[in-house]
Order: sequence, then C-alpha cells, then structure tokens
Amino acid sequence: MTIHIDFKDKHCPHCNALYIPFYKDFKCPKCGKSINDYFDFVDQMIQSLNAHKNLYDQFNPPTWYTGSLVEYFQSIIFKIFDALVQEKPKNGKKYIKKLLDSSMGDEKEYLGKHLENVALRVYDVFEKEGGFSKKRSEKDKENINLFERFIP
Ligand SMILES: [Zn+2]
Repeated sequence: MTIHIDFKDKHCPHCNALYIPFYKDFKCPKCGKSINDYFDFVDQMIQSLNAHKNLYDQFNPPTWYTGSLVEYFQSIIFKIFDALVQEKPKNGKKYIKKLLDSSMGDEKEYLGKHLENVALRVYDVFEKEGGFSKKRSEKDKENINLFERFIP
C-alpha cells in the first residue's frame, strides 16, 4: 500500500505559482510574498517514507500515481532517499543539491528550488530521527507476509 499525502494543488494569490506551504510563516517560492498558509508536509512525508521502507524495503514504491504537486514531490523525494541509502554520501545535503541540479537542468526555476528546499528540510528531520538506520521490525515483516498472501 502506498501512502499518498492528501493536499490539493494551491496557487499563490499574488503570482499564481504552485506551492506547498511546508513551514510556518510561509513565503511564496516564486514571488517571495507572505502566504498565510501552512501544511505539515514534512511530518507526513516522513510517515510515507517509513511506511514504504517497512513494506517494500525501499522508499520508492513499485507503483506510484502522480496527480498533484505534492505527489510529484513525494515521488522525487522517494528516489532521492533511495539514492542516499545506496551512495552513502558524506554530505547528504550537498548530494541532494547536486542530484536535483543535474536532473532539473534548465527547467530548474522556482519549482526546482522549491523542491530542493522541501527535500532538504525532510532530510534534516528524517536524519535527526535516525530514519536511515531504522530496520524493518519483526512485526512489520509478519504484517507484510499476511498482506502478501492476498496478492497473486
Ligand atoms: Zn507568489
């Protein structure tokens, strides 16, 4: 089961840019004006990372549907986090920036910068919580076995 964060696309009332208000006293990632809006994206993102790690032993799930900006950000962050586990860079933040720079190329306008800031915040919190060293618990394994019986 994949965990989709439920947050409908929102547009800045000043410049119409898409945004996810992932911190308090949020400012539009494009025009920089204050938007009185907040959504606990980081916490929910971490829940989805942990859930997928338990279920699939990786962050990026086998199938994913992107219908919103939040789901798009989720899918990129899953892939970044799997790459972090594989590559084990000394400086995780630098690695994330480099990865996003190379994959966005010329398209890296405000949305790319927004994604980078979101990904770095998620990384900070996840690492502090020891998320990268968490192993699947035995109970989770049992649950998965039960679950898999119903899947042909
Ligand atoms: Zn704006």
